[in-house]
Amino acid sequence: MKSVPEYFGSMVFDDKCMKATLSADVYKSLRKTIDEGAQLDEGVANAVAAAMKDWALSKGATHYTHWFQPLTGITAEKHDGFIAPSPDGGAIMEFSSKELVKGEPDASSFPSGGLRATFEARGYTAWDPTSPAFIKGNTLCIPTAFCSYCGEALDKKTPLLRSAAALNAQALRILRLFGNTEAKCVRAYVGPEQEYFLIDKELFDQRYDLRFTGRTLFGARSPKGQEMEDHYFGVIKPRVASYMQDLNRELWKLGILAKTEHNEVAPAQHELAPIFTTVNVATDNNQLTMEIMQKVALKHGMVCLLHEKPFAGVNGSGKHNNWSIGTDTGANLLSPGKTPYENAQFLLFLCAVIKAVDDYQDLLRLSVSTAGNDHRLGANEAPPAVMSIFVGDELSGILDAIEKNKPYQESRDTLMKLGVDVLPKFSRDTTDRNRTSPFAFTGNKFEFRMLGSSDSIACANIMLNSAVAESLRIYADRLERAEDFETTLHEMIRKTIKNHKRIIFNGNGYDDAWIEEAQKRGLSNYPTTPDAMPHLLDEKNVRMLTSHGVFSKAELESRTEIMLDNYCKSVRIEADTMSFMARTQIEPAVASYSRELAETCSAKKGVCPASACAYETKVVMRLSELLDEIERRTDDLDAAVSALDGSSDVIAQSTMIRDSVIPAMSDLRSVCDEAETVVSKKFWPFPVYGDLLFSV
Ligand code: ADP
Ligand code: MG
Repeated sequence: MKSVPEYFGSMVFDDKCMKATLSADVYKSLRKTIDEGAQLDEGVANAVAAAMKDWALSKGATHYTHWFQPLTGITAEKHDGFIAPSPDGGAIMEFSSKELVKGEPDASSFPSGGLRATFEARGYTAWDPTSPAFIKGNTLCIPTAFCSYCGEALDKKTPLLRSAAALNAQALRILRLFGNTEAKCVRAYVGPEQEYFLIDKELFDQRYDLRFTGRTLFGARSPKGQEMEDHYFGVIKPRVASYMQDLNRELWKLGILAKTEHNEVAPAQHELAPIFTTVNVATDNNQLTMEIMQKVALKHGMVCLLHEKPFAGVNGSGKHNNWSIGTDTGANLLSPGKTPYENAQFLLFLCAVIKAVDDYQDLLRLSVSTAGNDHRLGANEAPPAVMSIFVGDELSGILDAIEKNKPYQESRDTLMKLGVDVLPKFSRDTTDRNRTSPFAFTGNKFEFRMLGSSDSIACANIMLNSAVAESLRIYADRLERAEDFETTLHEMIRKTIKNHKRIIFNGNGYDDAWIEEAQKRGLSNYPTTPDAMPHLLDEKNVRMLTSHGVFSKAELESRTEIMLDNYCKSVRIEADTMSFMARTQIEPAVASYSRELAETCSAKKGVCPASACAYETKVVMRLSELLDEIERRTDDLDAAVSALDGSSDVIAQSTMIRDSVIPAMSDLRSVCDEAETVVSKKFWPFPVYGDLLFSV
């Protein structure tokens, strides 16, 4: 068997591969395009296409596809064969630069939120050379952006690339002000930690809710759940270990640096973390990782659940988005430096993030909003729906000293002056303890913990990159005009701390008292998707995002529409599935068991007329009440869903879902779950929590 370094990246047209297959000149201009965004000329594109084709054919590929990320949240691909007729009646394998650079999929079935009228249904895909092409199955996949004919982005990659460009432009201005002339480029780096559940495929197949919605819509608490805290970091079971091994192999072949794997808090819950890379590649890699996790699970007779809340009563799954910014010369701009000057620069970047998170709390909040994630945020296991930043007590102390112009430590008698003093040492250890914060500084990066497990990480990073770019723009505008750089810098940092310290919170984010306190501080709290999403169109948000060229107004309108529509559709499918399961599975089961008990009771009385049949009588009576209640609540749920058809406005629909459909779903669930605990297991129509959570 080959060693890992031998097969790592074997299915990726990566830098090593480019170097080996392209001429020195072609390689150099392609690198310039990748590193600095330089225009790619046709000759170079031709040479790259030819090399890519030869490489793909040598790996057994027969097809290619432009691989893109439409607003559905998953990836899309349409395969074309390399095959073409040859003059002698045979076949040759062809792939031109035109086919590499641009594609024209029929886009009419992808959501566009009104951006693309159906009469001009054709969108186009454009090659993104900054994310390497790879082979999946027999297909060469070329990462691409997806746009309408008028150039509006119909995908998640385009705005992500634009936000990265905005961050680069503004961060470079700051670096130049600090005298850095070497760095050519500043990039955002991301390492997303991915949580998931594994359950046995045979059990999965027996539940319509899991099959249709990815989560259980019914289910009484299992006698054993996560209360023993015996799963987190526990010994990995052989079946899961063999899955992880296979998964790693597949990911490594695709050049994805899967690094850490462990059991998570809930039974059947696990986590995978890759080594961080540029935000664009990390986003593509995370999409691929999710796809491959599911595929490999099937091979092992299991299903990988990526839903944010597959089971009530145990932890749901999220994705921790570790984010930092760094230069092409290898400097992490969120890492405290060694010299006073480096430290002033660090504090400025730190302040830029603090200001960004405070000014654009709503954008960050809505960037992680989905029907699935609404079950987690604020539910005492994931961060609350309120944004705040954890920086740790020591760094807080430093910020406080700067704000108040006072000594940082009692023992010091001189005031700290930025750009002159060395930053007091703070240990990394103390920064990483708080797991309840939605946005934690962990020594040299921020960990944004509100993301849902199934969501693309693109949206969160688009907002983060853009908001930080905006802080940096404001700083650069001021500093470029400053007469005295150091004084202006010092004052600017002080002012940021003073104006934005309300967003800093080092305490327990799960505590109800914090939500009250947050309200006092004026922080926004949007508990659900319908509360959060419309703020995408708030004037300040539109102004910021359009001014950096990340979105056009029309693109923002389309996204609001699509995200809310997606929310409505997801919940509606859940509601319909519940109604279907209640009527065709649960009610018949309850009725059958009641009948069995009633028959038992009369049979017993025939043999032994004095028998009280207390158990049968009690249970039959309770089940009869429950059955009527299930029927009534199913009718109520159906009525709440039908009422949605009365409105064509997606904002109105989403609030109706929040206010009437979701409560009706939870009312129905509670009676069904009670019935589950009374009805004989033999009669219950699908596997219960105890079966599902301990199935592998
Ligand atoms: P943990 O959070 O479990 O303590 P780490 O903090 O070491 O683990 O890493 C978690 C994730 O953060 C990994 O995906 C890692 O690659 C990523 N990460 C580490 N350093 C950085 C950085 N400078 N920028 C972005 N991501 C990073
Ligand atoms: Mg972490």
